[in-house]
Amino acid sequence: MPEQAKGEKVFRGIAVSAGICRGKILILHRARHIIARRGLADSELNEEVGRFEKALVQTRQQILEIQGKVLETLGAKEADIFEAHLLMLEDRVLVDEVIRMIRDQKVNADFAFHTVAERYVTALLGANDEYLRERANDMRDLTARALDNLLEVEDKFDLRHLAEPCILVSHDLSPSTTAQLDKKFVLGFATDIGGQTSHTAIMARSLGIPAVVGLQSVSQELNSGDYALLDGYNGTVIVNPTDQTLFEYGQLAKIKASLADKLREIQQQPAVTLDGKFIHLSANIEDQNDIESVITHGAEGVGLFRTEYLFINHEKLPTEEEQYQSYRKVASALKPNPVIIRTLDLGGDKFASHLQLAKEVNPFLGWRAIRFCLAQPELFRAQLRAILRASAEGNVKMMYPMISGLEELNQANALLEKCRVELRTEGLPFDEQMEVGAMIEIPSAALIADVLAPRVKFFSIGSNDLIQYTLAADRTNEKVSHLYEPTHPAIVRLIKTTVDAAHRHGIWAGVCGEVAGDPVLAPLLIGLGVDELSAAPTVVAQVKYIVRRLKLTEAQALAEFALQCESPVEIHARCRELARQTAPSLFESKT
Ligand code: PEP
Ligand code: MG
Repeated sequence: MPEQAKGEKVFRGIAVSAGICRGKILILHRARHIIARRGLADSELNEEVGRFEKALVQTRQQILEIQGKVLETLGAKEADIFEAHLLMLEDRVLVDEVIRMIRDQKVNADFAFHTVAERYVTALLGANDEYLRERANDMRDLTARALDNLLEVEDKFDLRHLAEPCILVSHDLSPSTTAQLDKKFVLGFATDIGGQTSHTAIMARSLGIPAVVGLQSVSQELNSGDYALLDGYNGTVIVNPTDQTLFEYGQLAKIKASLADKLREIQQQPAVTLDGKFIHLSANIEDQNDIESVITHGAEGVGLFRTEYLFINHEKLPTEEEQYQSYRKVASALKPNPVIIRTLDLGGDKFASHLQLAKEVNPFLGWRAIRFCLAQPELFRAQLRAILRASAEGNVKMMYPMISGLEELNQANALLEKCRVELRTEGLPFDEQMEVGAMIEIPSAALIADVLAPRVKFFSIGSNDLIQYTLAADRTNEKVSHLYEPTHPAIVRLIKTTVDAAHRHGIWAGVCGEVAGDPVLAPLLIGLGVDELSAAPTVVAQVKYIVRRLKLTEAQALAEFALQCESPVEIHARCRELARQTAPSLFESKT
């Protein structure tokens, strides 16, 4: 049906790398290996094992080459992706299993390798842990490459020799394929599967190529040569776009490009208002791989290091040494800027499968964060020691999540003191002056902020939780999302109470929840007296942009209005009005 084929069709997926591109589609289907079982004579077995081992050496060389190239062009974080491939390739259990199968069952190497590798893939896909499930793709990538070598077929997926610019569409793009692509000719890419954290997504962002993943069956529904537009901001691929769509996207692309230029210009400048108020702008991170992002986006250190990812993405508890290495890397890479490490905040919606915690009826009101840590002193002790030790290598600060009252703070501090004594006895260095703070994310803590303030060096307001606990609206439940209002007068007042108590006691107060990264709400926080804002690295520049165009006096007038206003909607409308007046460029697009 030619008419239908020419009509505009929209595929929706997950936006993983920002940008817009349009052009011809090139569908990539990885050539399927035809693996047949061949029986071998005893005399052929040694040679077959040799053939297998040679293919492994060849594969290893190719991966090292790709890794070297990626290290040069993209950096260490991206090159690290190939460590997983190398580890699998060197996994003696896997290699021995294949050799045993060749010898015991007297079969060809490709059949044995394919069978064993598929078993690994199935086991990884069935894992409870997202990190392990993602390793299944690494295993597939590696298997395909090793089979190419065993069967002496050329990699049909070799993207080094593309003839014209195109949008690559595929079921999945493996990291090693992605690493080889010729950036000149790849406008963007779209895949059926994948998520925000898949390695392909990480590579796309590093390469600065717009990408959409999770498009389900796009690689089967489209044909090479189709004309399409890919929107890496909203996660859509539009095939046969109409003139109207092309026009709208042309406008959007111009706006986004000019905004990106403006943000780049101020990225490494300080966040100071027009009337001279300095705001410390830092970043929220989840592991040591985020260091580069903190630096390139112009954040002045880390305001929230969420350490639970060290615990969630692993098969067992991280040791003190493993934690120390991770914290140390971040602290020394970013010094002299501060890195605020938050102690473990497991529970709520964050669980580590290996801990096998019993299900609770109300996990957000249950055994979470500091409550869990105080009940597991050995686990907590390992983390406190690791953080203290890391403090010797940079400007480390530490904070406790979910403090609800003084007793918890005192208990945590007592344990910390014990760790200090231990380290002194063991002769291990740490910063005796390391600042310790409390997160304010439960209304009770905000209301007794004046009691907590003399015992800490700073407050960091966790607005994500503070909003859900104050308004009794589960932050993960879309049915009550209309009640989850950051500009509710109760929230405004609790922030004000916290900041005032901090300042009266000579300590500073920051905000590290999502509101800190929202350019509409940041001026309100500044007007309420907040000293530090910590947000995802990718939004830091936007916040900086608005801070540098704002007057503290305007922000204070907004805060005064909010403190006497009864309506969340009106407060939000005022915030929007000030933000749009202050930084119109940030709001000039439909996304
Ligand atoms: C918060 O609650 O605002 C916060 C920053 O912590 P998390 O989102 O990790 O609970
Ligand atoms: Mg929180």
